[in-house]
Amino acid sequence: MRLDVSFPDLRDVERFRALGPQHLDEVRDRFGLSADVVEEMRLHAMVLPFRVNEYVLENLVDWDNAPEDPIFQLVFPQPGMLPGLSRHDLGVLRDATPKSPEKRELVARLRADLNPHPSGQQEHNVPMLDGERVDGVQHKYAQTALYFPSQGQTCHAYCTYCFRWAQFIGDPDLRFASSSPEQFVAYLHEHPEIHDVLVTGGDSMIMSTARLRQHLEPILAVPTVRTIRFGTKALAYWPARFTTDADADDLLRLIEEIVKSGRTAAVMAHMSHPRELQTDLARWAVERLRSSGALIYCQAPLMAHINDDADTWAELWRAEVALGAVPYYMFMARDTGPQQYFEVPMPRAWEIFTDAYRQLPGLSRTVRGPVMSAAPGKVLVDGIEGAPGERIATLRFEQARDASLVGRPFRAHCPDDAGWVDDVTLLPDTPADIRAAIEAYRD
Ligand code: SF4
Repeated sequence: MRLDVSFPDLRDVERFRALGPQHLDEVRDRFGLSADVVEEMRLHAMVLPFRVNEYVLENLVDWDNAPEDPIFQLVFPQPGMLPGLSRHDLGVLRDATPKSPEKRELVARLRADLNPHPSGQQEHNVPMLDGERVDGVQHKYAQTALYFPSQGQTCHAYCTYCFRWAQFIGDPDLRFASSSPEQFVAYLHEHPEIHDVLVTGGDSMIMSTARLRQHLEPILAVPTVRTIRFGTKALAYWPARFTTDADADDLLRLIEEIVKSGRTAAVMAHMSHPRELQTDLARWAVERLRSSGALIYCQAPLMAHINDDADTWAELWRAEVALGAVPYYMFMARDTGPQQYFEVPMPRAWEIFTDAYRQLPGLSRTVRGPVMSAAPGKVLVDGIEGAPGERIATLRFEQARDASLVGRPFRAHCPDDAGWVDDVTLLPDTPADIRAAIEAYRD
């Protein structure tokens, strides 16, 4: 394995340091934010998870453009992200003591309003083994299982649009996590149809390599598992994880072992904006990962305030391909968290995707979107026709609980402001099984 590549020696990169709500005054003083902006963020961070780190602050945020800057919007909670917040509520957040019942109830209500477990994750995707729930696992599509190691349930920074935000707010009822893979391994033996295991969180790369190895080795002993995917945003938020962290070389060796065992190691890299790939450290990290034999697939949601224009996506996908990574998915904002703040209506989302896609050479056209990860499956917006007010969307199951639905198109009336599959009305000629799948999970 070639661990040394032609990038500068960055051994001096600072050690990882996370900053949270208690550091907002420090951020204000260092980067010249106004007191009002910081106060709003402080109040919103009482409800929404907030975490950032020195690399993001120093290398990714354009402070001359804050608060509108896309990376600033990506990591700092903003006014408008809590739609149910009244003037009275703001007063309670600001003035009540942290442990007062009124404040606790308000925070709980505001969080409950944000649909903490979208798409029926808690009810529909948790597998059973011998009559017991398999902790820290979701099994939605036949070939793929998601595994949530308990030590991987944080991230190097938190995205304001995170659809797994419930993992970070400390409520044990809202956490998926497994402290060891034993039960999952038994489940894998019972389900040889599972070929792909996605290790996710949080961020799989927040774990030390030793911890990751502890979770992975028992899984790798299951012969029917052919692919290990790592869900991560570390290439964007903390690329030193793959370069200069003390156990970065060990991590690459672990990936190399997976590849040498005849399996695929796939890094599912969450990339929201082209700036995330512009630093030397991120590029070096990609090169090192590729040298270990890992494949890198890039995906992100389309979000207002962050990446809601075609040129940004075209630039992002070109940058990914230039580094040898594969553009994979553009997602729609999920029906959780501050969705109303970030939502891009379906007609506009399709326009952005198509305009960006047209700018790409053939090799970059691996990307699919816009896609909704909905309860019955991944629903792709394949086309929008008609004038405003009378639009018809052509949709298609890209993935589905019921594999017989995959690849089949269907059509629906699409309101101009439709943001999710629940918002469309299926046409009368929709096949019965597709209609049943969509209607079964409609809110
Ligand atoms: S990296 Fe993923 S899990 Fe972590 S905060 Fe962002 S969206 Fe959520």
